[in-house]
Amino acid sequence: MKDRSIVVVGAGIIGASLAYHLAGRGRPVTLIDAGLPGSGATRASFAWIAGRPVASDLPSAPLRHLALDEYRRLETELPELSIRWSGSLSWDGFYETSGPRTDDVGALEPHLLDPPAVAIHRPEDAALDPVAATDLLVAAARDRGARLLTGTLATALDCQAGTVSGVQTTAGVVPAETVVLAAGTGTVALCSGIGVTLPVEPSPAILVRLRAAPGLVRTIIATPSMEVRQLDDGTVLAPMAYSGETDQAALLRTAQRVRDRFAASFTGASDTKIVSVEIGWRPMPTDGEPVIGRPAGTRGLYVTVMHSAITLAAAAGRLAATEILTGSPAPELAGCRPERFH
Ligand SMILES: Cc1cc2nc3c(=O)[nH]c(=O)nc-3n(C[C@H](O)[C@H](O)[C@H](O)COP(=O)(O)OP(=O)(O)OC[C@H]3O[C@@H](n4cnc5c(N)ncnc54)[C@H](O)[C@@H]3O)c2cc1C
Repeated sequence: MKDRSIVVVGAGIIGASLAYHLAGRGRPVTLIDAGLPGSGATRASFAWIAGRPVASDLPSAPLRHLALDEYRRLETELPELSIRWSGSLSWDGFYETSGPRTDDVGALEPHLLDPPAVAIHRPEDAALDPVAATDLLVAAARDRGARLLTGTLATALDCQAGTVSGVQTTAGVVPAETVVLAAGTGTVALCSGIGVTLPVEPSPAILVRLRAAPGLVRTIIATPSMEVRQLDDGTVLAPMAYSGETDQAALLRTAQRVRDRFAASFTGASDTKIVSVEIGWRPMPTDGEPVIGRPAGTRGLYVTVMHSAITLAAAAGRLAATEILTGSPAPELAGCRPERFH
């Protein structure tokens, strides 16, 4: 009998969402990761699920418009997802120059020392713990029958005359009728091994974790000088642009600047301590748009690589899984196809 297996390479938020949406629907699913689930860019993510509207002519607009609703759906299926629907505030033109405004930032963020007179307020925005969400999706996929192989590096695709029939890994060959690459920055090398070029670059960004008194920050705050949100235990997450740091000392200096800025911005924050600082390597398509679908000239291969993958994971995972299982193209993904690069 024909092997109808699906192998998903990469257990970040995207691979985990795909495995969850693929599993239990009549085809064996195997999820492979070189490390543990969530150990790539997902681990270092700020994990803001941003519902800000995008220009409707952006190729990914139909997908992005689904992002928040799809998380609402996922939350009803997996209540332990623990999404924090805190809303977001941004000002000084960061991210957005127009949108629904509030002139009462002080009421929303009472500990902010110097609130702006006006800010863009998106009460529908949310955030989650990206690694916990990935683990939960993987666990739910396994409950539906998916197999998980951790510590297993995919080294090459088995491919003849454009037909992919499995993955070579450090644990041997895993045959598959469909191989789904959700390997973040690792997707590019696996594709180039069979002559498929994906213009996706590794793009570094920094995540600083601080420990402050709980309850200082209530929403997601985004300004040109500071992006922060806070967890219930007091942990503050603050992403930063990468500015050429090449060693731990330079990273620590960046973290100290973030700490000092945070401490100067909120009442009761003077004791704030640095917990950690790390670089995450985001898979960044060169045109900024998601790459989702079957590369031209291949059979048995499907790629899913994108920036803002936390925001898009619920929607992209469901739509891509449905395409893979049914063969019918999802219109919402029409602007995300890999062939646009050819
Ligand atoms: C500081 C920072 C802040 C961010 N903030 C946000 C935000 O607020 N909102 C948002 O939406 N996005 C944000 N992002 C981006 C987001 O985190 C990424 O888009 C997302 O994590 C990518 O998920 P992924 O599953 O595609 O890739 P990854 O999480 O990188 O997962 C890929 C997985 O594939 C595995 N892998 C790779 N190669 C192989 C191989 N050959 N064999 C086996 N396994 C392999 C890796 O081990 C990894 O687990 C941020 C990123 C950073 C770094």
